[in-house]
Amino acid sequence: MQSADTNIRDRALAADLEAMSLGERLAFLAGGRKNAVFTTSLGLEDQVLTAALVAAAPGVRIVTLETGRLFDETIDLIEQTEAKYGITIERIRPDEQKLADYVNRHGMNGFYEGIEARKACCFVRKLEPLARALEGADLWIAGLRRGQSANRSDVPFAEYDADRGLLKANPLADWDIEAVQAYVEAEGVPVNPLHARGYPSIGCEPCTRAIKPGEDERAGRWWWENDQKRECGLHVVGAAAQTPISAQP
Ligand code: SF4
Repeated sequence: MQSADTNIRDRALAADLEAMSLGERLAFLAGGRKNAVFTTSLGLEDQVLTAALVAAAPGVRIVTLETGRLFDETIDLIEQTEAKYGITIERIRPDEQKLADYVNRHGMNGFYEGIEARKACCFVRKLEPLARALEGADLWIAGLRRGQSANRSDVPFAEYDADRGLLKANPLADWDIEAVQAYVEAEGVPVNPLHARGYPSIGCEPCTRAIKPGEDERAGRWWWENDQKRECGLHVVGAAAQTPISAQP
């Protein structure tokens, strides 16, 4: 349970962060941390954060969840980004046994069957690997923005993640898509070519489609589900502590 004291500290921290540039935010957040981790999906926001981290907080570990179902373009971008910035992006892969159990039970594309099967796949390919990526971390940096979807409209700059026992920071929380694109342009940040083909938000290949004019940025994710709040669980409070029924052994 988050204490009232933590809430107060988070509010003060958010006010401090709001007044800073992106580089200052990252240096401030990572300063004095023993194990700061940035999880990148190689999306536009995450590419901006990678570029800014290299300059402002090079000690932060950069990791990606290599789910096994990523677009080829995303895989290529991991290598391209490493080469451009002279960094290593740690690939965290699903546990082989858990993945085999999931595939035996639901099939390789079982996520289309229903939301339970979909969440079970996200658990095995993303959530459980994320837990390993964040083991021992004291800071988790992510690229969430308030403008990405209605569901993310109140994303904070920083909050205590009680499930994982760390501070979670979203240094781009108040950036709009135009600011992100301007940074990419100005800094020559490598980006996924799929963005230019109508994919503002890119996840696993079978669960991502291009969006139509007027749709929100995340409308192409799990488009067959009706729930407007659909998320994979990586950024859902409480999801870390739960194993979906259909992912249980
Ligand atoms: S996004 Fe799709 S393929 Fe990827 S982990 Fe979730 S359900 Fe599985």
